[in-house]
Amino acid sequence: MNSTFQALGLRSELIQALHESLYTHPTDIQRLTIPGLLQGHDLLGQAQTGTGKTAAFSLPLLQRLEGQGQQPQALILVPTRELARQVADSVWRYGKHLEVRVASIYGGQSYSRQIARLERGVDVVVGTPGRIIDLMDKGLLDLGAIRTLVLDEADEMLKMGFIEDVEKILAATPTQRQTVLFSATLPKPVQELAARYMNQPRFIRAGDPEITVQQIRQQLLWVHPDSKVQALSRLLETEALDRALIFTRTRARATEVSLALQQRGYGVDVISGDLSQEARETVLRRFRQGDLALLVATDVVARGVDIPSVSHVFNFDLPTDPQDYVHRIGRTGRAGRSGVAISLATPDERRRVRALEHFIQQRLREIELPRLEAIRLRRNAIFLSKLQQILDDNAMELGLEMVGELLAAGYDMAEVAAAAIQLARAAELARPIDHVKSVKEIMETRKERSELPQKRGHSRRDDHKLSRDKDRSQGQKRQQPRRELVRPL
Ligand code: AMP
Repeated sequence: MNSTFQALGLRSELIQALHESLYTHPTDIQRLTIPGLLQGHDLLGQAQTGTGKTAAFSLPLLQRLEGQGQQPQALILVPTRELARQVADSVWRYGKHLEVRVASIYGGQSYSRQIARLERGVDVVVGTPGRIIDLMDKGLLDLGAIRTLVLDEADEMLKMGFIEDVEKILAATPTQRQTVLFSATLPKPVQELAARYMNQPRFIRAGDPEITVQQIRQQLLWVHPDSKVQALSRLLETEALDRALIFTRTRARATEVSLALQQRGYGVDVISGDLSQEARETVLRRFRQGDLALLVATDVVARGVDIPSVSHVFNFDLPTDPQDYVHRIGRTGRAGRSGVAISLATPDERRRVRALEHFIQQRLREIELPRLEAIRLRRNAIFLSKLQQILDDNAMELGLEMVGELLAAGYDMAEVAAAAIQLARAAELARPIDHVKSVKEIMETRKERSELPQKRGHSRRDDHKLSRDKDRSQGQKRQQPRRELVRPL
């Protein structure tokens, strides 16, 4: 359903900021929650990242601020520093035209800056429970004027053992406050917390994460069945990856792929049904925090856990059920961000690819295997950028001392630098770029065979529809409908 921010009752300063953020329409969760929150109701929202929940709780609390005093009127509790920074940044952005003062308060940052900030007076505090308690105990943070308290990613906070801190903070705020709780899952401890500290909360649940297919670049690479890992490695070298999920058909294959990638030096692990709940959470936390760039998963596991949004989804194996494809690629390209989904398919899987394309009403764009030269160039570019970073940061004391010694011994400056680079890159240069078996030949044979008259079922017209000419594979204008997979929220 289409609705506008005006219709939700938001004031013009906030709407202006939303326009500047290029938000044209509210997301589902915003449409469903903002009016009630503006009226001061408590809210229990089940929603994941990517649904627009941050704006859903931030906009009403900004609108409900009354004047500017010394003490904060709104407090947003989040589980991690990274999230504290992100949420504080969003609140600041939305509240820009109200001249809202926002402070983010989390561990690991110097106390003095945070204290100075609080002393100048703030309207909204965004922080992690531990540091908030610290500052309360030191008498530096007074929560007596809080009108709205938000618990964001409550399930995560409780999993991280913050329950006592959260309760202590709740107890330090006025009882007539508005309480808002967002959580991706609603395990018992979260429900109990809501029952104990919330006043007749409304319950709102967001549907599946918003998937707008246009935001996801969906690509296809034909591979030789014996060279899948090698082909994937090449893609991992050339794609601008942030965080990626790799899907396989079975658990055993997930482990196999993960080991093969580990051997090639990648930070990768498996999230599998074999792991205990605790071990799974550890893997997910490492992935979320960026210690692991790659996670290998199967559909069953991926559906059951809350995996954060990723820049890339690789379908190492095509899913058997096209619906799984939609779920898989929905992990990338979440609201507002772009994403890439690359599927590997063997020549035997032509029909499966066709069924998939039929299901999503869209053609996957064929890509070519990254060539050796492209990988070398990319490795060089990455190395150069790291080198420049060190030069820019001026962090070279030890190196300069050694260079001085070598120059004094009569070596040439450029040669010293070149030798140092060679040494620094020894491991990387030794990392082989695997040979990938060509798939062209099998594809050609298959094509020829499929051009023979067919007995039944598989018509020549279908084959013709599937054959991809050069123009298409280069991503030129396509004829097929560009219908959205799932209606945007
Ligand atoms: P969140 O679920 O709060 O983490 O938000 C996910 C992403 O959606 C963020 O990048 C927001 O900037 C973006 N976003 C939130 N609301 C809207 C909206 N109404 N229209 C477009 N993008 C939005």
